[in-house]
Amino acid sequence: MILFAQSPTSPFHLHRVRVGRILDLSPSFRRFTLSGDRLDSFADNGFDQRIKLILPIEEHGLSTMPMTDDWYARWRDLPHDHRNPIRTYTVRGVRAELREIDVDVVVHPIDGPASIWAETASVGDELIVLGPNAHHDGVQGGVDFLPPPHAERILLAGDETALPAIAAILERLPATASGHAIVEVPHSDDAACMASHPGFTVEVLARHDRARGDLLVPAVQAVAPDLLRSVRAASTATAELSDVDVDIDMLWEVPSDDHGGPARQSAPLYAWLAGEAGVIKTLRRHLVSELGIDRKSVAFMGYWRLGRAEG
Ligand SMILES: Cc1cc2nc3c(=O)[nH]c(=O)nc-3n(C[C@H](O)[C@H](O)[C@H](O)COP(=O)(O)OP(=O)(O)OC[C@H]3O[C@@H](n4cnc5c(N)ncnc54)[C@H](O)[C@@H]3O)c2cc1C
Repeated sequence: MILFAQSPTSPFHLHRVRVGRILDLSPSFRRFTLSGDRLDSFADNGFDQRIKLILPIEEHGLSTMPMTDDWYARWRDLPHDHRNPIRTYTVRGVRAELREIDVDVVVHPIDGPASIWAETASVGDELIVLGPNAHHDGVQGGVDFLPPPHAERILLAGDETALPAIAAILERLPATASGHAIVEVPHSDDAACMASHPGFTVEVLARHDRARGDLLVPAVQAVAPDLLRSVRAASTATAELSDVDVDIDMLWEVPSDDHGGPARQSAPLYAWLAGEAGVIKTLRRHLVSELGIDRKSVAFMGYWRLGRAEG
């Protein structure tokens, strides 16, 4: 039996939801609209708000998942075959008044619990979503796009797993923001999932049969120096950067202040990069070590790792 004991004001809430609609947006993206009685309290923070999808398992479905504030410790204590797989996604749309949210899932060919679920799920299927709680007073967490309030230009770059976040960021930024967004996707038709912004140049690069990062890396390398040149007083000193072995460590560096706000009040350029960890590591090195962009103005996130399952 599922035990419900969540504080009404905890920063994140677990929601038992159902698949309400499934829409194939493009060759690589499938949109799941999820409905749940308590999604009226799901906070609509926009930007790259991350959430967790907790997926059913054979035999037990969702029945062994603890629905309490201390769910994570309890989940870890469960025997392996009772533990529901947990995967990280971006919430692409929130309609709290309708008690629904949208999640755009990349349908990738390598088997993982989420990719299998995305291929096989039907309308009416149940899952659990961990998402930000609108009734929490403080910072709920899970938004890593934290540009300085006075960033002159913004660079957004990533692969298809970062497209939902980049599109949501573009939609939420004020009209006065400006910069460049570059996304590498598997197919040309995936461009249909991208958003636009009046102050941004948006490039969607179709990888087709090329290796991951083959288009994204040179595109960022071409654009970043121009962006830097276009803003005043950018530092040109190259920064020391400790290397991250993405086979062992998480590539995740999100500069913030002590209260979860931006690390800087102003910067000539703020960069936000997310996608396959090996590719993002290459971009990180280029921006910080070679171009000398202030580390406190650059967020790097390995959203997934080739050949490695999440967690
Ligand atoms: C903050 C955050 C936000 C994210 N937002 C989204 C989102 O909105 N939409 C989205 O689709 N993904 C998103 N991701 C990425 C997603 O969490 C991973 O792709 C996840 O690994 C998928 O789980 P899985 O069960 O399919 O595969 P796993 O069990 O994690 O991995 C199994 C195998 O699949 C491979 N694999 C995983 N993802 C991919 C991929 N995309 N293409 C090819 N091979 C892959 C792994 O390398 C591994 O070999 C996000 C990740 C993070 C950290």
